[in-house]
Amino acid sequence: MPIEFDKKELVKYPFLKEAHSLVGSRAYALNNLLELESGKRLAQKARDRIKAALSMDYVFDNVTGSSGDIPEHEILSYAIARMIVSCMNERPVIDKLCRYESERAAYFLKHEEPAKKEYIARSLGIDLRSGQMSVREYVELVRDIRDAKWQLVNRDVSNGNVAVSRDEAEELLKERIRSMLHGQLPLPVPDEIKEKFKPLSDEVSAVYKERVMEQFGEVDEGSFPPCMKAIISSVTDGTNIPHTARFSLTAFMHTIGMDINGIVGVFTRAPDFNVDMTMYQVDHISGGGGTEYTPPQCVTMKTYGLCCPDGICKSKKFQHPLSYYKYKKKVTGGSSAKGSKPASAPDSKPDKIGARIDAKEREKADKTAKN
Ligand code: SF4
Repeated sequence: MPIEFDKKELVKYPFLKEAHSLVGSRAYALNNLLELESGKRLAQKARDRIKAALSMDYVFDNVTGSSGDIPEHEILSYAIARMIVSCMNERPVIDKLCRYESERAAYFLKHEEPAKKEYIARSLGIDLRSGQMSVREYVELVRDIRDAKWQLVNRDVSNGNVAVSRDEAEELLKERIRSMLHGQLPLPVPDEIKEKFKPLSDEVSAVYKERVMEQFGEVDEGSFPPCMKAIISSVTDGTNIPHTARFSLTAFMHTIGMDINGIVGVFTRAPDFNVDMTMYQVDHISGGGGTEYTPPQCVTMKTYGLCCPDGICKSKKFQHPLSYYKYKKKVTGGSSAKGSKPASAPDSKPDKIGARIDAKEREKADKTAKN
């Protein structure tokens, strides 16, 4: 039997082609729509959707269209929200909207009828029932997931296929929705529409900056956790740091609200600083490559050989370098002097900064030195 969704169901999955067909003609007439009071209200609704995406606390219960909202308006707010973020020069906002939309869809999918859930998965190229997927598809799908559980080396692979349980396939469906939406943005928005959205996109941009400030406040390098300070020291000393260290430090600085120039500024301390290469890498890790990365947890930092805990790490048992940073900023009032020593010095040096690059790179450097 063909699968059919009613309007209220499409509110839950506005990315489906069926939802697009429902509102398509109205979306194309957007320019006229925005002149009307009803269009302006829709744009505000879209703005609120983005604001919800910027909050760390998602609430989806009230967005099923059951609260008296017209389903078409709900779906149009999704489409307009995508246009507003496309007008902004803030890739993290795009990333947050895509994450929000995928979490939202996953929330509804959890309670969805199996046949409809399977239809949605199939329309996105995932077979929930087969128990496996090809290595190529799998690798593409988990590319941006950092949890070790998904790494190919930790999977059961045979005959070119990766075993994937039903629950796992449903988790991957969420990731597929996120990456698909991310791949579609930014949308090309005509200048005249951009102009109309400007007050809203400026408002969203201000909210985003406020959220980062609320979370982390002004950047205080003195409150950086010892692992990040140690990487900076290695950069300053001219040690050839491994990619994992560069990645962790960049993602950390990006997450606490440093802009690309500020992050690159830290790497200028390296004696062999290369502006183009550094800009490229920093831009990529900060979201320029389509994915905004977050810094690794402490457990991952340990496996990278980048963890060098001080007394605070040990007494507070932090799970994440960002928790250390927030805590330290709070207790010092965010007034640690730039570059000051940590209140509690690391008990040990990270033994492996530079060690993992190691052997091969050192061999290369030795050879160059000898020649
Ligand atoms: S315990 Fe966490 S915050 Fe502390 S040094 Fe290790 S990775 Fe960094």
